[in-house]
Amino acid sequence: MITVVCSDKGRHEKVRLTFTGSGSEGDRPGPVQIDFTSKRPDGGKTYRLKCNVCGRDVHLRDDTWTRMVDGIIAAGLSEIDVSHLPC
Ligand SMILES: [Zn+2]
Repeated sequence: MITVVCSDKGRHEKVRLTFTGSGSEGDRPGPVQIDFTSKRPDGGKTYRLKCNVCGRDVHLRDDTWTRMVDGIIAAGLSEIDVSHLPC
């Protein structure tokens, strides 16, 4: 179970992010909604995460997201802070 949060690099209280858009991905647990509307021409998807506190708006390719989640799990962690992502 991965929790996606934003702290704006520690500048605000950690909040849980929600994906914008419609639809949810069945093979991922949690209240995570994936925006299926932004399908790319190459067949991939772009996920969009928005923080309502600092206004951070992160767009992630599905392959980037999968790599990131794999890395988090491999590191034994269960939380992703999007304000620390390089994008
Ligand atoms: Zn934020």
